[in-house]
Amino acid sequence: MSKVIFKTAEEIELIRESSLLVSKTLAEIAKVIAPGITTLKLNTLAEEFIRGNGAIPAFLNYNGFPFSLCISLNDQVVHGFPSNYELKDGDIVSVDCGVIKNDFFGDSAYTFAVGEVSAEAKKLLDVTQECLKRGIEKAVSGNRIGDVGYAVQDCAESHGLGVVRELVGHGVGRNLHEKPEVPNYGRRGSGMKLLEGMVIAIEPMINAGRAGVKFWNDGWTVSTVDAKLSAHFEHTVAIRKGQADVLSTFDYIEEVLNKV
Ligand code: MG
Ligand code: MG
Repeated sequence: MSKVIFKTAEEIELIRESSLLVSKTLAEIAKVIAPGITTLKLNTLAEEFIRGNGAIPAFLNYNGFPFSLCISLNDQVVHGFPSNYELKDGDIVSVDCGVIKNDFFGDSAYTFAVGEVSAEAKKLLDVTQECLKRGIEKAVSGNRIGDVGYAVQDCAESHGLGVVRELVGHGVGRNLHEKPEVPNYGRRGSGMKLLEGMVIAIEPMINAGRAGVKFWNDGWTVSTVDAKLSAHFEHTVAIRKGQADVLSTFDYIEEVLNKV
């Protein structure tokens, strides 16, 4: 997709519907994520839930990706494969999900803590989620892509964390990946101007150590060069005047996780 595709109000509501289904799917994962469950089981549950809600798992067969979820453990950054690996206490696991419903995509990701995680992991999760929030705050009409990237980068680097450069956020619509690219780094006031009708996925990928990544021979998995932890949070948002309209939500996940 070479040009930004602007969305009508009706189209944005369809993207919201798809995004909320992604959010509900991630909450289904939140219900079962615990030591002992395999990441392949999470994938199966997600696929069943998505199809049961009249939608299609967007990642399955996307450019040949063989699963419905990207599940990236610990030092994996993004695009990890579900497998027979059993989650264990102390793992962090990024679950990235997309659906297609009514011909529109929704895209969101959340990094879960499995059982008790290290202080380093907790900080990484908290800061990465904060980075997403800061990026969203800048994703308003009249600002530029660089304002979003700067906000994310500044948040991460002020905590001594590394910002992944090789992978970026993106426009979302009838395609999973549209213009513009939404980097997690940048200069204030630079890049494309954000305008109403644009829908973008903002997705900080933040490393506990160095920013560098390596690409696996499986053609998909990306992990940190120094084998330190990486986290990833993502929302699909519509650009508006004054404040972004966040089309996906972590509320369903948090309802599950905060349950005593
Ligand atoms: Mg995603
Ligand atoms: Mg995305």
